[in-house]
Amino acid sequence: MRRPFVVGNWKMNGSRERAQALVVGVCSGAFGLPEVDIGLCPPFVYVGDARAAIGDASVLLGGQNCAGVERGAFTGEVSADMLADVGCAFVLVGHSERRTLYGESDDEVARKTELALAAGLVPVVCVGETLVEREAEQTEAVVGRQIDAVMARLDDDGLARIVVAYEPVWAIGTGRTATQAQANAVHAFLRERVAARQPNVAAGLRILYGGSVKAENAALLFSEPDVDGGLVGGASLDAEQFVGICRAAG
Ligand code: PEP
Repeated sequence: MRRPFVVGNWKMNGSRERAQALVVGVCSGAFGLPEVDIGLCPPFVYVGDARAAIGDASVLLGGQNCAGVERGAFTGEVSADMLADVGCAFVLVGHSERRTLYGESDDEVARKTELALAAGLVPVVCVGETLVEREAEQTEAVVGRQIDAVMARLDDDGLARIVVAYEPVWAIGTGRTATQAQANAVHAFLRERVAARQPNVAAGLRILYGGSVKAENAALLFSEPDVDGGLVGGASLDAEQFVGICRAAG
């Protein structure tokens, strides 16, 4: 049985005050949901405040990204070790905004995955196709290539520690959600791809769906057999909405 995981990605939104209020709201909702892993990814500068506000509540903290190098003269970057040091348990790697806006390659995402694991973080590896790629029936080729690049750098122990997030690029922030069938088909494909390398790991692999998840559509998406939770952007900026999504995963 795979434990559901719902992650809120605030991206570059909010303020110190709003971040505090969101964390408090999510933590109070999380008390009633012990069967769901709940994670929040605030902007880096609010991670310390969020850690303090979480206190003993069972909400996990994550980074939205980490550097693809361990340390050194990389102005503006934040390493996986630093995220672990300030209380993060996981980190998003390869979010589509990183891939498209910052040109991150499949191998760079794989390298970040390795560094996250070495730092003791759970990497949440994001994969997904653009609309053009879907319409050209390239979805499996694209997500297959993205997950293969990560698998190529990991041993079986590392592979067993990752989480995958399938996020069709055309569904992120657009209000257009994949249908249940579309989401589950890609999740099942990804699980099979991992199973070809390590069947036991594949059976336990958590694959989250991301792309315009809301409290109203979450329950149907999460009812699919290969959907193990969600990666939520816009709706995670409203504590009540986000808690509603977490409830749908329970
Ligand atoms: C995301 O940022 O990963 C995301 C899925 O955003 P949204 O929920 O707003 O589509």
